[in-house]
Amino acid sequence: MNAAPVVTRFAPSPTGGMHLGHVFSAWFARDQAHRRGGTYLVRIEDIDAARCRPHFERAILDDLAWLDLASDGPVRRQSEHRADHAAALAQLDGKGLIYPCFCTRAEIRAEIERAGGAPHGPDGPVYPGTCRRLDPSERSRRIAAGAAFASRLDVAAARRRTGTLAWRDHAAGQVAAEPELFGDVVLGRKDVPTSYHLAVTVDDAIQGVSLVTRGLDLFAATHVHRLLQALLDLPVPDYHHHRIVTDAHGERLAKRTGATTIAALRSAGHDAGEIRRLAGIPAHDVRDAARAGR
Ligand code: GLU
Repeated sequence: MNAAPVVTRFAPSPTGGMHLGHVFSAWFARDQAHRRGGTYLVRIEDIDAARCRPHFERAILDDLAWLDLASDGPVRRQSEHRADHAAALAQLDGKGLIYPCFCTRAEIRAEIERAGGAPHGPDGPVYPGTCRRLDPSERSRRIAAGAAFASRLDVAAARRRTGTLAWRDHAAGQVAAEPELFGDVVLGRKDVPTSYHLAVTVDDAIQGVSLVTRGLDLFAATHVHRLLQALLDLPVPDYHHHRIVTDAHGERLAKRTGATTIAALRSAGHDAGEIRRLAGIPAHDVRDAARAGR
């Protein structure tokens, strides 16, 4: 058991407004921290410059404050911490575990077709490893010619270093890590020199997050995060992947499928207590919020 105070976080990406699924996730993170006398933090995951917008970030922080779910401490914005992510990538590169990948999506698709298919990972077909097999002189030639490249983790080589790994999930119990399910994941993208997997793992460690709470849709990502923790010598938090809020048809709420935003519910006259109820927050907590004047 971890004797240090629990730190949890809610880590939204400002690529749209919050919906009820985000409200549940934020509440869950705060509840898990507060029931243990711990700290709940909000982190803005805005590494994807093409999709993130400052007005979405402002709306998220405003909705959280209105719902009585504001961060207990300073809000960390990932885009302001590129140096931390770059240092981690350099550390992995120094161990010989990173290779440049010049492939476009179309080239990857074509390569998979040529090979007659690829195993299907949690994020789609697994990268066939084309650039892992590139000759070093060809790599250097392409880089010198200014070709854009992503940085991929050689997962098989990484696994040889770490051996078997596991993590503790408060809902699922002890879970054996299977990072090879994803294949050689991208840790530095062509457009930004980091990726979701790298940034989240590094930031959770820097912020002292000891219990990562997030939706079950991100359960598989933890296989990769656990491997990165081992390679970067980072502390291993506990995890609690929670249920996903669904709509009346049992579908997961998502920005891209047009889930009703909290902003829209607010302007339609719903109060914070109602929104917390719609998000599935247990009634005792809704009453606590009502007592607090919301
Ligand atoms: N930023 C991610 C999202 O909005 C969540 C990351 C995490 O909780 O690990 O889906």
